[in-house]
Amino acid sequence: MSIPTAVIECSTCDYQVAAVQTHGAFSWCDDTGNRAQLTRELGVCEDCACVVAIEKLPSESELQDMVAEVRATHPRPMKKGFLSRLMGERKDDHPDWLKALDSMVPKNPESVLLALSEQKRRPLCLTCGSTNIAPLNLPQRDDLSETLEYTTRVKHPGCSGVLVAYFPRNQRFSPMEFATLVHVSGRIVSRHRYR
Ligand SMILES: [Zn+2]
Ligand SMILES: [Zn+2]
Repeated sequence: MSIPTAVIECSTCDYQVAAVQTHGAFSWCDDTGNRAQLTRELGVCEDCACVVAIEKLPSESELQDMVAEVRATHPRPMKKGFLSRLMGERKDDHPDWLKALDSMVPKNPESVLLALSEQKRRPLCLTCGSTNIAPLNLPQRDDLSETLEYTTRVKHPGCSGVLVAYFPRNQRFSPMEFATLVHVSGRIVSRHRYR
């Protein structure tokens, strides 16, 4: 997949990255193998010293709304029954990257959202799991002047420069994509590249 995106550079050093870090597959899990999807946003991680995807944790009232919505749209999973006892377990011949993606699919998301609402924790860097992060808010391309350049107030970690975003007109990027699984308690369980 290729997508149009912003390019982020440092005003001082030669750091440059395409702002596609929030693409990929992300899923949150509890202790019993359930899965839910949450949103993420662009941020800066002091420990990775670069632009990353970070968690965007819902507020308590947003969580309540999400729980109500998944109750309405996701039926609780069926118990393994008669058919799987008859046929045996399905043969496992998928490649690893596909298994990593399969494991992202929501499953009983209500449990995960309820477990998350008990955590009261800070959002994480979705690359390294650090909470030493800040969101990086970029304007929409259409809100910018002719130069299509936007200087943020966000420092490039470990450097004296600030981050500058620009929006190349006809450039598209094919990002490396990772399947990232996060435990509700705030720990990255796994991160596999699949594209
Ligand atoms: Zn720099
Ligand atoms: Zn990080």
